[in-house]
Amino acid sequence: MSILGVDIGGSFIKFVAKSGKDIKKGKIPTEKSFTSITGEVKKLIKNFHPEILGIGIAGLYDKKSGRLVVSPNIRFLEGIEIKDIFESEFNLPVVIENDASAAAYGEFRYGAGKDSQTLICLTLGTGLGGGAVINGELLSGVSGCAMEIGHITIDTGGWRCHCGRKGCLEAYVSSYGLERFYFFLTDQKLSSSEIITLANEGKLEAIKAVEEFSRYLSIGLMNILHIFNPDKIVIGGGIPEYYPAVIDLARSNLKKIAFELPFRDVSICRAKLGEYSGAYGAMALAEKEKKR
Ligand SMILES: [Zn+2]
Repeated sequence: MSILGVDIGGSFIKFVAKSGKDIKKGKIPTEKSFTSITGEVKKLIKNFHPEILGIGIAGLYDKKSGRLVVSPNIRFLEGIEIKDIFESEFNLPVVIENDASAAAYGEFRYGAGKDSQTLICLTLGTGLGGGAVINGELLSGVSGCAMEIGHITIDTGGWRCHCGRKGCLEAYVSSYGLERFYFFLTDQKLSSSEIITLANEGKLEAIKAVEEFSRYLSIGLMNILHIFNPDKIVIGGGIPEYYPAVIDLARSNLKKIAFELPFRDVSICRAKLGEYSGAYGAMALAEKEKKR
């Protein structure tokens, strides 16, 4: 039995194909068009002959109608009933989940979250995504859009978020959040990866920007701790991957601000599957569906 999972993003498709115990993964650049994405997925299907396809996709996906409601990075799929369209296009049963929720499930089944009872996963990239796996089940919510942790308000009237609201956690804890912290300190516009490089070289302002970023991350973590009392929080994405100290900084601040009891029982670590958490999760969700 072969199973394919794909993580469809704004510029890449990442895939994980499992056949028996053999797992293959990879990353394919795509153009921002429907035919480019479906064309690449069809090639993968031809290669791996899956019986079922799991898809992780950025945005709010409505499980009831199979429609992708909002997806800022994949606008051309917005408002489209992707479940029906993908199933007829690929001639396969398709399981669809939000990419950050898929990433949480991927880390739970194949990564840093194995054996966790209450796992929360944060994906720290262009935006801030979240997912939760509780007693082995992904928390999807009734519509499919639970765990939009990036869009909880932490400062009414605060910085503008990409979603249009003010003071969302994502407005601070994301690559554009880090760029803002750096800009406020230096008046210079640098990309988040440039800032991380400077911080790794020991440049003071870059380190300060990362520290501010980590302080806001710890506020997000505190909220998670106080709602879920999880045993594990897994943090993925480029920033913690290239500057792991953000997690230590956030943890030490979290100790100061959170209730002692949930802090005692949580372990916070980096995602083990790196940029493939979402694709692993999409595959694992399809695998689970197949076994039903
Ligand atoms: Zn927002």
